[in-house]
Amino acid sequence: MNQKPATPKDAAAVILLNDAGDRVLWARRNPQIAFLGGWHAFPGGKLEISDALLPVENCADAKLGKFIACAAREAFEETGVLLARGGERLTRGQRASLHDDLISGRMTFAEILEHWNLRIDAADFAYTGFWTTPQFSPARFKTRFFLAACPSKQTPYAAISELENVEFIRPLDALNKWKKSEVLISPPVLLSLKTLAEDGLESEVQNPNSVSKKLLANSQKADGEIRHIELNPRVICFPLKTETLPPATHTNCFIVGRRRFVVIDAASRDESEQNALHRLIDSFVESNFECLAIITTHLHGDHTGGETVLQTHLKEKFDLEIPLATHRQTANALAGKVDFQTFIEEGEAFDLADEDGKPFLLKTLHTPGHAAGLLAFYDEEFGFLLSGDNVVHSSSVVIAPPEGNLNDYLSSLERLRDLPDLRFLCGSHGAAVFDAKSKIESYIVHRLEREKQILGAIENGAKTASEIVERVYVGLSPELLKLAEKTVEAHLEKLREEKSF
Ligand SMILES: [Zn+2]
Repeated sequence: MNQKPATPKDAAAVILLNDAGDRVLWARRNPQIAFLGGWHAFPGGKLEISDALLPVENCADAKLGKFIACAAREAFEETGVLLARGGERLTRGQRASLHDDLISGRMTFAEILEHWNLRIDAADFAYTGFWTTPQFSPARFKTRFFLAACPSKQTPYAAISELENVEFIRPLDALNKWKKSEVLISPPVLLSLKTLAEDGLESEVQNPNSVSKKLLANSQKADGEIRHIELNPRVICFPLKTETLPPATHTNCFIVGRRRFVVIDAASRDESEQNALHRLIDSFVESNFECLAIITTHLHGDHTGGETVLQTHLKEKFDLEIPLATHRQTANALAGKVDFQTFIEEGEAFDLADEDGKPFLLKTLHTPGHAAGLLAFYDEEFGFLLSGDNVVHSSSVVIAPPEGNLNDYLSSLERLRDLPDLRFLCGSHGAAVFDAKSKIESYIVHRLEREKQILGAIENGAKTASEIVERVYVGLSPELLKLAEKTVEAHLEKLREEKSF
């Protein structure tokens, strides 16, 4: 079963500088939002059809006009900042009431502009290129970014519930928060912050051209493609196309550490995906970074398939002997298919090092349930969990007996939820999760609710797993029926183990 990646939707965002030109506006997206909830981002959003009808003056590139309009509208909607000439005539109260008119639908943005004789001028927006959400995300955007100065006397605020903690911040301070793993930053924002910090914004106030040109060059060099995501300075998430279960299309490969690093789930069997991963790992090896192991989290086919190819590649290209490592149970299950040299046990820690050579520990957690040998990894100092297939971003996890065991799975989830100082997690599929504890708790609650529904179906006369599925999973797409049946069997097995059935 394989799904196509989602088609990116057009969008625009603003890199808004403060009056002094030394700070940039960012905000945390509400953690409840499905797309990048809890991540820090710039204000922005999806292009609306009406954006193309908004007048944009002095626009040399006709194709960009609607995106400038979109950026201006989104900045106003999300932060109350009116990036339009003539806006200086309005008081703070007037702007707030116009914002109210817009959000409540009493007036459109076009009507507001026209009524108050406000003009969007392309000269106020420096185009800094576009970035496209990586393929693994169920929601994808091709976002055009614009650098703009916040008009004096306007103070941005969280004007809609989608955003929290709207603030101007020095790019270096923002990066330091990220370096300490205090925040998750969306990839284009992180890239922009790095460029802004490099440039030192102050000198760019009079001439934002130079910094915007650098930003644009970065985007053009990558053709707007985000191939991997730096979750913090220690963890890179490299989503690889795999034959996995919908809604996922990719499996996350993780490269943890820099000067001393491990590769977790080099999973793809696709040659061009393997090559893309190899290019990044080659660059690490060429920087004299040391690879300690190529790790496989568990036996499933969407987590294996590229590890031996990577091992051979590193041997042939650099004459390196990197061991393939996994839990003994996984190695036994894959005997004859993958030849593992190292077995990893619960509690074992990898002694890794970041870019500056500072050491840190990545602890191994043996978490049976989804698979008997499933491994998760925890960086306790950063409170960052790589949860494997225990918890993923946007769907529930399949527990299919006899390999899967629901009692074990729930114990593993409870254990992960109670890890000391846990803050973030990233599973094997989908984006990193901002509030790891709540996410894991929601998985536990979901399972227990499902159990209640199953008990209810049995009380109402359902006898077989497929009869239970019919009653509990109403409207399920046919290709997922088999998996639902497996899940019901796992529940029945749990109930039998507890002798309540
Ligand atoms: Zn799995």
